[in-house]
Amino acid sequence: MKLAMIGFGQAGGKILDKFLEYDKRHDSGIVRAAVAVNTAKADLMGLEHVPQENRVLIGQSRVKGHGVGADNELGAEIAEEDIDEVQGAIDSIPVHEVDAFLVIAGLGGGTGSGGSPVIAKHLKRIYTEPVYGLGVLPGSDEGGIYTLNAARSFQTFVREVDNLLVFDNDAWRKSGESMQGGYDEINEEIVTRFGILFGAGEVDEGRDVAESVVDSSEIINTLAGGGVSTVGYASEGVDNERNSSGLLSRFTGDDDPVEDSASTTNRITSLVRKAALGRLTLPCEIEGSERALLVTAGPPHYLNRKGIERGRKWLEEQTGSMEVRGGDYPVRDSQQVASVVLLSGVNNVPRIKELQEVAIEAQDNIDDIREESEENLQDLVEDDDDELEPLF
Ligand code: GDP
Repeated sequence: MKLAMIGFGQAGGKILDKFLEYDKRHDSGIVRAAVAVNTAKADLMGLEHVPQENRVLIGQSRVKGHGVGADNELGAEIAEEDIDEVQGAIDSIPVHEVDAFLVIAGLGGGTGSGGSPVIAKHLKRIYTEPVYGLGVLPGSDEGGIYTLNAARSFQTFVREVDNLLVFDNDAWRKSGESMQGGYDEINEEIVTRFGILFGAGEVDEGRDVAESVVDSSEIINTLAGGGVSTVGYASEGVDNERNSSGLLSRFTGDDDPVEDSASTTNRITSLVRKAALGRLTLPCEIEGSERALLVTAGPPHYLNRKGIERGRKWLEEQTGSMEVRGGDYPVRDSQQVASVVLLSGVNNVPRIKELQEVAIEAQDNIDDIREESEENLQDLVEDDDDELEPLF
């Protein structure tokens, strides 16, 4: 599936950069166009793979290239005001070659948190292609203002996109690491999951086991209907040795791989379970998910229809959904079999409820402190018996 990706803010830009790196490394052909937007010049300069002409600095007259300092209302205002500059970069995208837009942002900050729903709304108004969001929730240790920003942006972003794919930094936090090193690893996890998912719809049919290959329309249909989505992933290394002619060196004869099909099926079904029951990009109860898509990626001879079918049935039972799609993503040179499970329209997400509670608490706190602060300042500045007069 070919995407036009727009990375908003620092996290959005860095994840976009990682997607481009992933695309080059795997030749997966998912990033048809990449635009990074920011109010902070330094963040844009730090990107490695986004073409210079596709880096858009907005809000220069307001914040002079220094960012909005976690003020997402200002982030949203600036995005509205400078939408033409963003559109200017999007104009260079051959949209007829794109299956969908993906707007990427960290929801806890200012620029991405405020700007991403604005650009999503704008894109939906102008184009007929679906507009998806990839929203990153902050870690719970980041503090009240980040949680409040994320909770408000989440509400708005879900409303403005055709589907919001969510990644929760909190569930992926690694202790004892520097923030930067930690984010680098987390971003790698993000692009691996979404790279396989979107790459699955980009396989040249007829090249490999064509009949059960995932088509981009299956990804679009799973995401259609809106709401919030989460992704699970599991993989296992396999011995995919080839001889110089590109054929399997361990073939026993009539194109039969050494492994029997029962082992192949079992590996796939077990990977599907691990993917769905393991750590999701947004942890949630999978029961009640409205739609699901199962992708099994790996060397063609390690994929089979029976494995996918069993995995699909199991997912139907677990989610209670009748709309579970599934298919292969053949990757000839891969040394692993991986299962990616997209759960779309999830409803039972305790993490979101918790985020909202903390956000409301933070909002009340901020209001209280603001009110008190005015009183306190007055107490300090004014003399007790009001004997002094200010100059003017
Ligand atoms: P902005 O530039 O104003 O949009 O704000 P940032 O993108 O710097 O930060 C917003 C939130 O995104 C932070 O609170 C973090 O939770 C998260 N974040 C920042 N950088 C990264 C990153 O590289 N990867 C991930 N996964 N999250 C990040």
